Amino acid sequence: MPGPFLKDRYFIGLHISWWLLGLWLCGGIEYALALTYSDATFPPLSTSLVFFLSVAGLLAIVHFMVRRNAKSRQRFFARLPGLVFRIDEFGKIEFASDQGLNWAGASITDSLRNQIFDHEALMNLRRAAIEAKGEIQTTEMTVKTNHGEQRWVRIQMRALPPITPDCQIDCIIWDITELVEERNRRQESEERLKILETLSNEAIFLHDGGKCIDTNNAAERMFGYDRSELLLLSAADIISSETLPLVMANIRSGYDKPYEAIAVCKDGSKFPCEINGRNVVVQGQTLRLTSFTNISDRKFTEEQIRFQANHDALTSLPNRYLFMDRLNFAIKLSKRRRECFALMFIDIDEFKSLNDTGGHSTGDKALDEIAKRLTGTLRNVDTVARIGGDEFTIILPGTETPEDAELVARKLQTALSGSAIEFGDDLSPYTVTASIGIALYPDHGETVDELIAAADDAMYAAKKSGRNTFRFATNNRSRTE
Ligand code: GH3
Ligand code: MG
Repeated sequence: MPGPFLKDRYFIGLHISWWLLGLWLCGGIEYALALTYSDATFPPLSTSLVFFLSVAGLLAIVHFMVRRNAKSRQRFFARLPGLVFRIDEFGKIEFASDQGLNWAGASITDSLRNQIFDHEALMNLRRAAIEAKGEIQTTEMTVKTNHGEQRWVRIQMRALPPITPDCQIDCIIWDITELVEERNRRQESEERLKILETLSNEAIFLHDGGKCIDTNNAAERMFGYDRSELLLLSAADIISSETLPLVMANIRSGYDKPYEAIAVCKDGSKFPCEINGRNVVVQGQTLRLTSFTNISDRKFTEEQIRFQANHDALTSLPNRYLFMDRLNFAIKLSKRRRECFALMFIDIDEFKSLNDTGGHSTGDKALDEIAKRLTGTLRNVDTVARIGGDEFTIILPGTETPEDAELVARKLQTALSGSAIEFGDDLSPYTVTASIGIALYPDHGETVDELIAAADDAMYAAKKSGRNTFRFATNNRSRTE
């Protein structure tokens, strides 16, 4: 049976052969009849003619059917969207499908191989097809059509038997430019995502109501779990119990603004984090995408800024602003609880002279040591602040009587002057003395200003009376050493 790629001249040759065969058969049969029935009347010429025409017609019908079948196959290949062609044993294109030729902007008479497939890779593939002994070989490559377009094609080739170096090769070529471009775009975007994921410091979880479904590398780094372990976890495993209710409430309500929580690592360590959650629909299912940013550094910086704003840089004691705030708080608390407290103003005696003899840095060391001695003498609930130069203030909550305050004042004097401060160089040790003014709430004042004024006046009174002493405010009742 003729193959689908045979050309018309083969059919014409075949047609003629069949007619000759018909003639030969008619003549042969007539001759055989004549031999068999030599005594019988020889069939008339018309009978021979009818017989001959019948056989020839029958053969023509068979031929027509075979040819129609072949043509229909040829049409099928011709209409295929890909370019189907056969390279004959001489390396020429024997058949090429119409649609494919249109796509390539070529005609069957063109040398397709030279025009669009002049490519080393194609020749290698041809060789590979022959070596593969009938197995289909596939490759992808770029070709340039006669329209001048650069297209990506997928080529499948198969050597036809008998497989020799010059054997025929059936080829089909598909234009996969769009596919390749889409694939490249997807690859690029996947690579970009990968880079982003690798560089990202945000742990990202895709979860269903807190139950982890997918996560990224940063989550492994942040929480210390392997990916396989993370996939088994839920929110309760990585959020501290104190902030878990907030996180779960936000998951349930679909809250989509940033908020802070405390995260827990595999080793049990905790860190402050900022959480960003968003509901997403994945394959028809509403899930939640949540990112975690470790904000330890930010918190530390914020804390430092807050500390610097409220504390003295030299001694790290509360500064004037924090002192005022604490004093306000002490007044409110004492008012509500109907309690008393004491406020002390302390100014170091003759401090200038230390600066003059030892220099400013020596003075700084002394101020730092003084701050330590004051803090070391008092309770945690007391406040020691440095409100300027060599001036310190102390709030003593729960100090009910002048005797209590006096006791503390004496302790402070002892702490300051009990041992001289050593500077370790040629400088002689420095013995600190201070003048202390004491005001009691509410006896000497019920407001911040009244109390500060009373304590300040008392401190100046102590200075006036020769320094290294304490005085109570006098606006109500006072007591001296
Ligand atoms: P007085 O007994 O009257 O208090 O005498 P004083 O020398 O202590 O004088 P005063 O309290 O009026 O002055 C405080 C001095 O403290 C002024 C300045 O030389 C010094 N001083 C202020 N701030 C600093 C500081 O931050 N570092 C150092 N080293 N010295 C300071
Ligand atoms: Mg002083």
